[in-house]
Amino acid sequence: MTCLLCNETIECFFQWQHWFSFKQIEYPMLCHTCEQQLKLCYWTETGCEYCNRSVEEGTTCCTDCLYWQKIDATYPLKVHAIFHYRSVVEQLIRQFKTVGDIRAAKLFEQPLRNMIHKCQKKDQMIIPIVSHPERESWRGFNQVKYILDQIQVEYMDVLTYDNRPIIKKAYQNRKERIESNNPFILSEEAICKLESHLNNQHVCFIDDVYTTGTTLHQAMDVLKQYNIKSFSAITLAH
Ligand SMILES: [Zn+2]
Ligand SMILES: [Zn+2]
Repeated sequence: MTCLLCNETIECFFQWQHWFSFKQIEYPMLCHTCEQQLKLCYWTETGCEYCNRSVEEGTTCCTDCLYWQKIDATYPLKVHAIFHYRSVVEQLIRQFKTVGDIRAAKLFEQPLRNMIHKCQKKDQMIIPIVSHPERESWRGFNQVKYILDQIQVEYMDVLTYDNRPIIKKAYQNRKERIESNNPFILSEEAICKLESHLNNQHVCFIDDVYTTGTTLHQAMDVLKQYNIKSFSAITLAH
């Protein structure tokens, strides 16, 4: 066996129990060195109160979350990340997203299942974030929906990525620019689904990486009209 990331040989020790087990043997995909660098995120009291990334001393909110709070404080977005976005995680996500290597996705399955379980609320609806259709058709799948399907988590597939070319306009401020460049639209079918299913519910988005929060807030913008109790998100990394 070789490591998925560095091609280093992984030594597998055969255990006699395997002879008597009907379970499929799971071989490690990463070598010890790469695995050591996969750092799970744990919610701390010292991090940003919304996304838990590290903040400057004496503050409780990171600059990105502070920005979104200033724009619209009605819906604070809590983001739970599974891994710290370090080189190993970045490489795994890239391998999965750009090369379409589904072996890399396997490493996110159990942690995502655990995180969904941990953040589960009553009346919660899971909505995956979609990406540009060209990228998805090239890859043959949507990376987030792929993992959700693997772990058999039910979700509402309502967001559609609008790939019409963006008309350049002069915007007054960043808020206007973000709103008019919103790539998400709701299809007729999605609107029907939302109208019959969304009623005073919590929405939990699933996305790959949390960076500035623009994508998640654009997704929130198209859903705010549907009587939503709260928005949160789970991302593979931040
Ligand atoms: Zn390795
Ligand atoms: Zn934050």
